[in-house]
Amino acid sequence: MTKRAHTEVAVIGGGIIGGAIAYYAAKAGMEVTVIERGELASGTSSRCDGNILAIDKDPGFDSQMSLKSQQLVAELSRELEHPFEYRAPGSILVCESEEEMRAAEEWVRRQQEAGLPFRMLDRADIRQESPYFADDLLGGLECATDSTVNPYLLTYALFAGAQKRGAQVRLRSEVTAVTREAAGGFRIETSQGELTAKQVVNAAGVWAPQIGRMLGVEIPIKPRKGHLIVASRQAPVGLRKVMEFGYLITKFGGKRQVDEETERYGVALVFEPTESQNFLIGSSRQFVGFDTKVDLRVVRCMARRMLRFYPRLADFTLIRTYAGLRPWTVDHLPIVSRVEEVPGFFIAAGHEGDGISLAAVTGKLMAELLQGREETIIPTAPLRHDRFTRRGGT
Ligand SMILES: Cc1cc2nc3c(=O)[nH]c(=O)nc-3n(C[C@H](O)[C@H](O)[C@H](O)COP(=O)(O)OP(=O)(O)OC[C@H]3O[C@@H](n4cnc5c(N)ncnc54)[C@H](O)[C@@H]3O)c2cc1C
Repeated sequence: MTKRAHTEVAVIGGGIIGGAIAYYAAKAGMEVTVIERGELASGTSSRCDGNILAIDKDPGFDSQMSLKSQQLVAELSRELEHPFEYRAPGSILVCESEEEMRAAEEWVRRQQEAGLPFRMLDRADIRQESPYFADDLLGGLECATDSTVNPYLLTYALFAGAQKRGAQVRLRSEVTAVTREAAGGFRIETSQGELTAKQVVNAAGVWAPQIGRMLGVEIPIKPRKGHLIVASRQAPVGLRKVMEFGYLITKFGGKRQVDEETERYGVALVFEPTESQNFLIGSSRQFVGFDTKVDLRVVRCMARRMLRFYPRLADFTLIRTYAGLRPWTVDHLPIVSRVEEVPGFFIAAGHEGDGISLAAVTGKLMAELLQGREETIIPTAPLRHDRFTRRGGT
């Protein structure tokens, strides 16, 4: 297929967010070109877990948005041609102290009030869940609708679906400049030539601020590094996603009763059985720039944390480790928005640890914004780019 010199919508970034936008925009009949400097999913979308979670979302807008995305992903599992290891077994959080149990009860109460399928789990429920749990765990909570995918495969499935509907993808094409044209629209320079576009979507994840600067737009996103361990399954430890309740505290920046190293590296247990019968064990949260090198001190700290919850897993085989960069924003919500000062320029980035969960709803919403729809799948105000400046800085 010859490359278009002009496109209606240019999407910068071939991660899961760019893939979801390309899919829903192409499905809505728009002419889309995606520009990716490496390969598809070569950024954070291949260095993460694959959870589509409501369990760890703030009750209210945040969890409602996740629930919408869960529904869309279930639809995608029927709609897209390529399978992506979709399962919806629910997920659980486990508590190690009375204080956490009380906080969990409050969390469940607020989620139930918002109409979400949450429930408390007692000690017996936890034993039933897995005989491998530490004996002193007190209980936890469950979100019944949580689902899981292979993020890499979902990204590829979305792009395949988009391409089938006419989208073009330019790989190994780094965007080096974006300028506004006098007659409207944009000129995009890449390492593989130029193209023009009526509308541009910045879906460059942690690199979105660099694309923003090309048009004089400040985007307050910072890389928050996270490590994962891949372990081979040697025993039937559990069938669904488990996190420690303290993960919520780490995510939202609170203080926990843990040792200094666990606190410094932001380590909290995340345990995910994959379809290929391995376990993803994580994770960490650190602001250390754009470095994705694996730090073995962090990996050791994560393994120790896992043993606190699963003491009998000490002999498990470690297959590999990796680290990725979550696109962090100060209020933990993504930016999915038009940019008021640059008409035709849009941002879909800043999903932090929720980009897999929120990709589908982001793609659908962005397709609606690109079409200038007034009615959208979710309210747009909490996701606007100008919320940071309206609030008086970042
Ligand atoms: C350890 C870890 C665990 C996680 N677990 C989960 C989870 O269980 N559930 C969940 O929902 N989320 C999870 N996340 C978060 C999720 O991975 C991210 O939010 C998501 O992948 C972000 O997708 P993206 O498309 O915005 O960014 P990316 O996947 O990084 O895509 C951006 C793309 O833009 C490209 N790009 C950048 N600059 C340019 C340029 N100048 N020109 C062209 N292309 C460019 C990059 O090459 C990249 O491919 C996790 C993250 C980490 C690190």
